[in-house]
Amino acid sequence: MKKEDRFRIYNKYDGHCAYCGKSIEYKDMQVDHLVPKNRGCYSRWSDKEGKFVVSHGDDCMENYMPSCRSCNLRKRDMSLEQFRDAIKEQAKGLLKGAAKFQVNMSIAYGLIQPAFDNPVEFYFEKFK
Ligand SMILES: [Zn+2]
Repeated sequence: MKKEDRFRIYNKYDGHCAYCGKSIEYKDMQVDHLVPKNRGCYSRWSDKEGKFVVSHGDDCMENYMPSCRSCNLRKRDMSLEQFRDAIKEQAKGLLKGAAKFQVNMSIAYGLIQPAFDNPVEFYFEKFK
């Protein structure tokens, strides 16, 4: 990938991860394919049209997303909707997983507030 393309991707969301919105250093940015390359037809976000359109996982600027390491690792080859569901399930899993004792105690003390009914919104969906 050309350096100037990588820089354009970094600036798509002003140096933030397109998914979680965390500020990322240029050197730490990972380039994610919004529509995974190994997928056939998928809906993808079109900035130009302001809506999801069906497409393939192309190597093009529209399909490249700046991502933090965590989001890129977690998303892997998931579609956007699969990724959204996985994030929600991951949060719910905290109540049952290895850290459930600590999570439930933290909830009891008001240190963590569960909000499982909140929608999972990606940064790029809110970005103006
Ligand atoms: Zn992220």
